[in-house]
Amino acid sequence: MTLIVASLCTTAWATAGDTAPWSYSAPTGPQNWGELKSEYSLCSSGQTQSPIDIRDAVKTDLEPLNFTYHSGKATVVNNGHTIQVTPENAGGINLASGHYSLVQLHFHTPSEEMIQGRIFPMDAHLVHRNAAGELAVVAVVFEEGAHNPDLEPVLAAMPKNTGGTANLEAINVAQLLPANHNAYSYMGSLTTPPCTEGVRWNVLTTPLEISRAQLEAFQVLYPMNSRPVQPLNGRSVHVGG
Ligand SMILES: [Zn+2]
Repeated sequence: MTLIVASLCTTAWATAGDTAPWSYSAPTGPQNWGELKSEYSLCSSGQTQSPIDIRDAVKTDLEPLNFTYHSGKATVVNNGHTIQVTPENAGGINLASGHYSLVQLHFHTPSEEMIQGRIFPMDAHLVHRNAAGELAVVAVVFEEGAHNPDLEPVLAAMPKNTGGTANLEAINVAQLLPANHNAYSYMGSLTTPPCTEGVRWNVLTTPLEISRAQLEAFQVLYPMNSRPVQPLNGRSVHVGG
């Protein structure tokens, strides 16, 4: 997932820029993030990092995710690490731990999540925050298949240059979800510096489809923007259904 915690409080991504030159390839790539800045140390020393390979999920009575998304305006920003969509007042999710409002969503290729060792060509991370400032992310994985009409407005609006922004008159994030809202749940971290922990991850079990042409449209801008999977270190993953 791509954001700096401090920037969650602002929508000024386009002008804020990024103060640290992290990337997805050496020498500023994921293997070295923890050494780039002291603020990034959790990227190498953290014990509950994301993403992970989701295996051996424990079946529980976990309910499907309860979304309260609704349609609204949004901005689409090319922030130098990914394409990020920031909706205005788009609703959120209700978890057992309370309500979290949607802050932004963005994309990785290939998927950061692995499910039973399988990697997908793309994922979307929907980043939410509650009143206490705690984060919950919903991840959706995409497999190659049919053209995805619900994703098309975002792909069509993607600014080609870093710092570029575009406006979407209306986006309903609910349409970017599979019908099945069962999710794998585990505690992890931001997948980009500063790799902050305590993030509630909810990875939807059902993939969406995206066409090869749509995938390539994103990969022209970002051929590879995924952090490798991290050690589980004894964490458990739960799944309902
Ligand atoms: Zn992400």
